[in-house]
Amino acid sequence: MTSAIYPGSFDPVTLGHMDIIERTAQIMDRVIVGVLYNQKKTPLFSVEERVKMLKSVTAHLPNVEVKSFDGLTIDFARENGAKAIVRGLRAITDFEYELQLSQTNRVMAPEIDTLFLTTSLKYSYLSSSMVKEIAMYGGDISAFLHPDVAELVREKMKRFH
Ligand code: ADP
Repeated sequence: MTSAIYPGSFDPVTLGHMDIIERTAQIMDRVIVGVLYNQKKTPLFSVEERVKMLKSVTAHLPNVEVKSFDGLTIDFARENGAKAIVRGLRAITDFEYELQLSQTNRVMAPEIDTLFLTTSLKYSYLSSSMVKEIAMYGGDISAFLHPDVAELVREKMKRFH
C-alpha cells in the first residue's frame, strides 16, 4: 500500500488544495493531509478548526485522512508510514522554496521522496492568504472555497468588524 502525506497550513483550505488532494487520492492508496501547528504564523483558524474543515470537505474521499502535526514533516511522514510528501506548485515563485525544502528533507530522510503536482490552471493564482485578504475587506470569496468553508471564513471575519 502506497501512502503519501500532504502537509500544509490550510488556513483555510482552498479549492486549489482540494484539487491537489483529489488528484493525489487517485494516484495513492492512502493520503494523509497534515495540518501544521505553525508557531511562526498567527492563523485565522485554530488547528482543530482547520482539521474539522478539511475532514468535512474530503468526506467523499474514502482513502483520505486528516491529522494535525507539529514538528518535522519527515517525522510525520515516518509516523504514518508514508513514502512520499506531496506538495503543490503554483508558480515559479513557489519553486525555489519548495526545492530547498525537498532537498533538505531528502538529506534527513533519504527513504522519503517529495512529489510535486502542478496546480490546475484555474487555481494557479489562488492562495489562502489572498483569500483572507479579500474576505477581510468584505469581498466575494465564493469562487475560491468550498461553500461551507466560505461560510466559516465569513463568520470569522465578522469578529473583526
Ligand atoms: P504552507 O504554509 O506549507 O505553504 P499551504 O497551506 O499554503 O501551506 O499550502 C500547502 C501546499 O499546497 C503547498 O505545497 C502549496 O504550494 C500548495 N498549494 C497552495 N495553494 C495551491 C493551489 N492554489 N494550487 C495548488 N497547490 C497549492
